[in-house]
Amino acid sequence: MSKRVEGTAIGIDLGTTYSCVAAWFSKHNRVEIVPNEQGNKITPSCVAWDGTDLLVGEAAKNQITRNPKNTMFDAKRLIGSRFSDSRVQAYIKSLPFKVIEGFGDKPMMVFEHEWIDYIFSPEEISSKIIENLKEAAEAYIGTKVTDAVITVPAYFSDKQRQATKYAGALAGLNVMCLINEPTSAAIAYGLDNSGDIHRPDVKNVLIFDLGGGTFDVSLLNISKAGMITVKAVGGDTRLGGEDFDEVMVNHCVQEFKKKESKDMSKNAKARMRMKIACEKAKRDLSSTTRTSIEIDSFFEGIDFSMKITRAKFEELNAHFFLKCIEHVEKCLRDGDVHKNDVDDVVIVGGSTRIPKIQQMLTEFFDGKPLCKSINADEAVAYGAAVLAANLRGTGNEKVQELIMLDHVTPLCLGIKTCHSGARVINDMVVMIPKNTPIPTLKEHIVLTVYDNQETVEIVLFVGESTETKENLYLGSLHIGGIPAAPAREVEVAVCFNIDASGILNVLGEDLAAYVTDTTLLIA
Ligand code: AMP
Repeated sequence: MSKRVEGTAIGIDLGTTYSCVAAWFSKHNRVEIVPNEQGNKITPSCVAWDGTDLLVGEAAKNQITRNPKNTMFDAKRLIGSRFSDSRVQAYIKSLPFKVIEGFGDKPMMVFEHEWIDYIFSPEEISSKIIENLKEAAEAYIGTKVTDAVITVPAYFSDKQRQATKYAGALAGLNVMCLINEPTSAAIAYGLDNSGDIHRPDVKNVLIFDLGGGTFDVSLLNISKAGMITVKAVGGDTRLGGEDFDEVMVNHCVQEFKKKESKDMSKNAKARMRMKIACEKAKRDLSSTTRTSIEIDSFFEGIDFSMKITRAKFEELNAHFFLKCIEHVEKCLRDGDVHKNDVDDVVIVGGSTRIPKIQQMLTEFFDGKPLCKSINADEAVAYGAAVLAANLRGTGNEKVQELIMLDHVTPLCLGIKTCHSGARVINDMVVMIPKNTPIPTLKEHIVLTVYDNQETVEIVLFVGESTETKENLYLGSLHIGGIPAAPAREVEVAVCFNIDASGILNVLGEDLAAYVTDTTLLIA
C-alpha cells in the first residue's frame, strides 16, 4: 500500500449494477457518501454511446431501452476474465450488446455505430465509471481527487484484481489499495457515522453481501482493539440480483409465447424493456406480496401484462437462494466456526432486501436477528473511504486506530504438475492454500523432469479442485537457460508473492547460481 500526500483520497465501491463513492470530510469529521449530478448516492455502472457522446451513469441508464446495443453494463462480470471461459460464453449470450474475443482471449465490449465497431475492454468501460465518480467527488469536495481505494469481491481472482486496479489508473487515479467488499463493509459496521468505534468483545461476524452481480460471504473476527481478521471467504462471482431478473425475464418470455404464440426472445430491445420491468417488479415484491408487469406495445404492437406474486418469484429463484445458504455453510466450515458461534450476521448489497433471503438466513442461524444497521447500498464505499483516510493519515484518531486489516486468499493457488505420457489425475499442486492470510510470500522448489531440460514452464491455476481443468488458468511462467544436467538434478525456485491487494507476483530462478531470464505471462 502506498501513501501519498497531495489531493484527496476517496473510497469507491465499483459495483456490477451500481457504484458508490465516499470520502472523509475533515470539516464534518466523518465519512460522507458523495451524491452524483442528479443527487443520488448510487450511480448505475453503465456506459453508453449515443452516436455523438459517451454517456456514463444515470445518463447512460436512462436511454438503455432506446439504445440497448450501445449501452454497456456488467463490465465487472467480464473484467479480468477469459473470453473462452464457458461461464463467460454462457453469460454473454444474454447480453443485448456485442462482446467479442480480443487479444489474449480477452472479452471486448463493442459499440456499433453506422457499421463501425468501437471496441472497449471491460477495464476501459470500468474506468469511465470510476472517472465519473471521481468527478462527482471533486465537485462535491471542491478539491482535486488523486488517490483511491477501490473495492472488489473477496472472490475476485488475481487477474480480476489487476484489471480493476488498471481501470483505476486509466481513470487517472493512484489506486492505493484494493480492499475486499466484505472487509470494507466490516469497517463500516465497526464505525458509526460520528467516527466512534463500537467496541464489542471479540466477535465473529458473518458478512452476507448479495449485490447485482456477485455474492460474497465472509467470516470475520473483529477484536476489541479494532483489528479485523478475515477467517474465511466464499461466494460466487456470478450470482446476484441480475440472475433473479433473468429468471423472471425467461418466465415472462415463456408466458408471452404461450399467450400470444410469439417468440420475442431474440429481440434485444424488447428483452431489455422486459428486464427493466422485471427488475422493478422484483424490487416491488420485496415490500408487497403481489405486483404486475405492464409493458405497452411490447412486441409487434402487442402489450404485455402479467401479475406475479412474491411466492412465484421465490419459487422461480429457489435454487439461487438455496445456493446462497450453501455458500454460508461452506464458509463457516472453511473458517472452522460453528453457526452458534457467529455473533452478528451483517447483510449488505441491494439483493439482501429480498424477504425470502432474509428469512432463510435468519432460519439458518436459528432465529438470530440480522444486522441491518448499516446502509446496504453505501456500506462498502463507506469502509473504503475510511481505509483511504487511514492510508492518507487523515480522518480522526479512531479511523487511524481501527484498521489493521488481515485478508486471506479466496482460492487455492497452484501449479499443474508436468508429467510426460498419461494424463495425470489430481494434477493441481497447491502452492498457497485457500484462506492463507495475505500479504504472503511462499517459495517452492521445482525439479527438472527430463535430461538436459533447457526450460521449465510453470502453469498457474486458481481454484478449489484437485484437477486443473476444473480451475481457472492464470498464466504461465517460462524459465529458460537452464544448464544441461540429468533429470531431477536442477532445482528451480519459484517464489509466489501475494500483496495486500491480493495481486500475485511470481518469480522463478534456477538455483544453480545462474539467474535466468523469466517472463510471467499473465495475459
Ligand atoms: P448492489 O450491487 O449492492 O448495488 O445491488 C444491486 C442489486 O440489488 C440489483 O440487482 C437490484 O435489482 C437489487 N435490489 C435493489 N433493491 C432491491 C429490493 N428492494 N429488492 C430486491 N432487490 C433489490
